[in-house]
Amino acid sequence: MKRHRGPGIGRRRTVRALVALWLFIVVAGVGTRPGRAAPASAPTPAAAATAAPGSAVSKGILCGRLIDGRGNAPRGRTAILIEGERIMKVGPPDILPKGIDVIDLGDATVLPGLIDMHSHPFQSTDSYQVDHLRWSSAYKALKGLKAVQDNLQHGWTTLRIPGDDDMFYAQFDIRKAIDGGLFVGPRLTGAGHYISITGGGGDMNFIAPEQHPIADGLVVDGVEEMRKAVRQEIKYGSDWIKLLVTGAFMSVGDNPGDVHFSMEEIKMAVDEAARHRVPVMAHAHAAEGIKMAIRAGVRTIEHGTFMDKEAIDLMVQKGVYLVPTMYVGEYYADQGTDSPEMQKNVELSRKFRGEFERRVGEAIKAGVKICVGSDFGGFPPELNAHEFASLVHAGMTPMQAIQAGTRVASEALRWDDRIGTVEPGKLADIVAVRGDPLKDITELQRVTFVMIGGKVVKRP
Ligand SMILES: [Zn+2]
Repeated sequence: MKRHRGPGIGRRRTVRALVALWLFIVVAGVGTRPGRAAPASAPTPAAAATAAPGSAVSKGILCGRLIDGRGNAPRGRTAILIEGERIMKVGPPDILPKGIDVIDLGDATVLPGLIDMHSHPFQSTDSYQVDHLRWSSAYKALKGLKAVQDNLQHGWTTLRIPGDDDMFYAQFDIRKAIDGGLFVGPRLTGAGHYISITGGGGDMNFIAPEQHPIADGLVVDGVEEMRKAVRQEIKYGSDWIKLLVTGAFMSVGDNPGDVHFSMEEIKMAVDEAARHRVPVMAHAHAAEGIKMAIRAGVRTIEHGTFMDKEAIDLMVQKGVYLVPTMYVGEYYADQGTDSPEMQKNVELSRKFRGEFERRVGEAIKAGVKICVGSDFGGFPPELNAHEFASLVHAGMTPMQAIQAGTRVASEALRWDDRIGTVEPGKLADIVAVRGDPLKDITELQRVTFVMIGGKVVKRP
């Protein structure tokens, strides 16, 4: 039987509920955010600049060589003064006040924290789509947290996630837990999912038609579904949108040489995302798909395998960034794998490896802005920094490659006001290697010291 409440009790309860809601808003700081909240991973520079000098604990770093990320000639013996989470001064050793805690790294080379523009923390085996079906969101979150922490230990202080395979956006819970101080981890940004057509790289094309699993990607067809998908991605924390504009190498049953989305669909994604001030990254292998994505207004091109001269010229003209993820293809070409789902990738990587390297070389010569992206993430973190060597092999100088994984990447993220270089005012995201990476770029595969936001997380 239904119980009735007197109107008085109901009103008192409503008042109590309103007070509770008001308290929640005040405590959670919900009412203080103007518009879309900036990702807490990257606090605004203004917020830190207001911290009174001396209010935070000072510390110093001494190193034998500094590569600042700007491309300046490396400095010799250098000191870095850090206050709280920020770099205050960079100069000769005598800038360090007496009595502060100084970490002397000897003749090690110090560089800005590394930025991986293409990291999939949930993907850790050669059968990632099968893993997606086997592993719960909770398990993915736990594994993913471990993966991003391992990446940090290897010098990657910022990761951009180009969509990953958890339906419930676990990467943003990992980010929330790190930002909330529950765990130490890198700065995270990126997309919840890769948005794909039916039968595309984000769909599961090896499942019997009578089975209906939820795919690892977000599968949409048509302009209205695209609009909805973009809004949903942003609603749950994406600060980038990721489109699979063409087929992919690593998925089953589709062809990276094919263009998947129509111009109308790509345009819709870019326009809808722009309304929320969210940029779009386009996974694109086929030349035509690369050009369509650039013309529609995306900010970064992922992979770019079959780019032609016109595509390269368009990237230069429009200032679009290229994240070629070269090493992952070389890895599969060299290693091969037993995974049946990965055979297409191995075959195509072997076939197009040389051609791709030549095209990346042309893009470097033409002046395309290129960023480091590993396309690993959940794999052994030793693999990620091989990308620097691949870029050098394709024609970059070691200095250019270092900037591709630091300052240039920070500009692509629009976080160059806070990370990407070792300069006063920037967040103290700092790494060190024992030798000279300008002489041997593989030094970046052996990071010995890591600091993030002024906190030391790895020491030699
Ligand atoms: Zn990827």
